[in-house]
Amino acid sequence: MKLLIKISGEGLSEGQEKFSEKMLSSVAEQVKTLLDQGHQIALVVGGGNLFRGKELSGKLSIDRATADYIGMLATVQNALVLRDYFESKDISTRVSSAIGMPQVCEEYIPKRTLRHMSKGRVVIFAAGLGMPYFSTDSCAVQRSLEIGAEMLVMAKNGVEGIYSADPKKDENAEFIKHITAKEVVERNLKVADLSAMGLAKENGLTIKIVASDKIDRALDPEVGSTIES
Ligand code: UDP
Repeated sequence: MKLLIKISGEGLSEGQEKFSEKMLSSVAEQVKTLLDQGHQIALVVGGGNLFRGKELSGKLSIDRATADYIGMLATVQNALVLRDYFESKDISTRVSSAIGMPQVCEEYIPKRTLRHMSKGRVVIFAAGLGMPYFSTDSCAVQRSLEIGAEMLVMAKNGVEGIYSADPKKDENAEFIKHITAKEVVERNLKVADLSAMGLAKENGLTIKIVASDKIDRALDPEVGSTIES
């Protein structure tokens, strides 16, 4: 199966540590398990452990678009960290960036991505979509559609899937096992940003939301929450 895994920048960090060996090793081990099972894997990584556009925008005269480009560059940094870590664990990996930087990594060429994946290499999409005013959630949905992934797996820190409210703040939050993308949008559930959910809804992409330590079990119906169209 062709799977695209979305990991937020915070999924690489722990407390004050921007990059935690424990988190990196957990991601690498789980990706290896999926590869060993014969799945093809691509990955989108966020940048939230380093910079988010919205946090910088308006400060020190930085405008929103510039702040977003800084956020995109943060995702490239995360992708490079992941690549070297994966390679150290014998996972053959390529970084494919939406912003050209030939000395650093490959630029995004869709057919090349497919070829890498068919050879068992993990492709990490960096720099999001290369456009400000978007997030790496939108990138994860768009790239899933473009490479024909059967499922987008979104890993979340500290939660097992989708809830009716934030389970860290509301003890009455209920776990939602199955939901449609339309309902996620209508109920304004904080799963992914709205443009990402809208794109998934229009194109019938299946999304699985799992805890960050259950990525390798994403295909197990017992695990996580599923968003269907
Ligand atoms: N970003 C962007 N366009 C994209 C992807 C990302 O402008 O296509 C910027 C945006 O500022 C975002 C930052 O990169 O805040 C980091 O990505 P994101 O917030 O999605 O990371 P995550 O929350 O998943 O760690």
